[in-house]
Amino acid sequence: MFCVECGSEEKLYGALCRECLLSKDLINAPSHIELEMCHGCGNFYDRGRWQNIDYVEQASRILKEQTKTHKQIEDIHWDIPKFEPVKGEHRVICQAISTIGDQEFELDFEIGVRIRVQMCPSCSRQSSDYYEAILQLRRDGVASKDAEIELAIENQQILNYVDSLAGNEDNAFLTKWGVVPGGMDYYIGSIVLAKNIAARMREGYGATIKESNTMVGMKDGQDLYRWTILVRLPNHGRGDIIAYEKKLYLVDAVSRKVLTLKGVAKGQIYRIQPDDSKIKPVAKYSQLMEAVVVSHEAKTIQVLDPENYKTVTVLRPPYLKQIGETVPVVRYDEQLHAV
Ligand SMILES: [Zn+2]
Ligand SMILES: [Zn+2]
Repeated sequence: MFCVECGSEEKLYGALCRECLLSKDLINAPSHIELEMCHGCGNFYDRGRWQNIDYVEQASRILKEQTKTHKQIEDIHWDIPKFEPVKGEHRVICQAISTIGDQEFELDFEIGVRIRVQMCPSCSRQSSDYYEAILQLRRDGVASKDAEIELAIENQQILNYVDSLAGNEDNAFLTKWGVVPGGMDYYIGSIVLAKNIAARMREGYGATIKESNTMVGMKDGQDLYRWTILVRLPNHGRGDIIAYEKKLYLVDAVSRKVLTLKGVAKGQIYRIQPDDSKIKPVAKYSQLMEAVVVSHEAKTIQVLDPENYKTVTVLRPPYLKQIGETVPVVRYDEQLHAV
């Protein structure tokens, strides 16, 4: 066999020798490609959807789709170096790696990668006060001026959860949130997200959930609803200290039907009903004081009483394995207790 163009008897790629093959226009790459990025969330528009994706991979795929190759090339892929995803045109040296028979050929091309910037629908709704649901977080006895402190754990949980979904789910944003009498309100872009948060509060904190909605108009021929989701937390939250039959307990877990307690003195686990009338609240998690540790032993800790700075010896709760510079304490029956 010999090359049909020059008659060479070297190794052939199809009908041509390597030299003749490389003299052809093997790869016809576009001068530039375009990516669309949202300047709100940094997501890219890809195959009909705004997504949190690797834009370099996306660029490589688009480049492949827009490259014309000589019929002898069996496969091609583009190697694109990482570049800053900022608005404008980036001149990027891209490497085309093509396969002919059992050989790979590498050729460099300078390609203009243009990043066009706009707002995805989710971000534009967010910037326009859009919301589908109001989630009302409530707990009996929460004073409105302290709601953010008293509900600090639950609030942080909600904010973290929204953050973790932002950009991956449509309208996963908070339009606004803040303290209201009796708790906190969250204006949420997506009803799906709002219901998810409520479900998490039920699982994790034993909250009860009440949903209602009102029709606020029509969109694309469908009724448009706005939801209100009332999430009522049980009176006792994780980390609170309560007294039960004159003994102190740390609330270890809360569910709809069971309050799991840990004895402050002996560390024993105890389960009771959340509405047991013998429960006496002692301190909310947010009200615990921190006492400076002077010294500690296996069964006791010496601390400075945070109110009068006298040194006192208190019992060390068995579950306090590590002792730092301070320990949480409460005053109960006129005595200080490490909890
Ligand atoms: Zn040839
Ligand atoms: Zn966006």
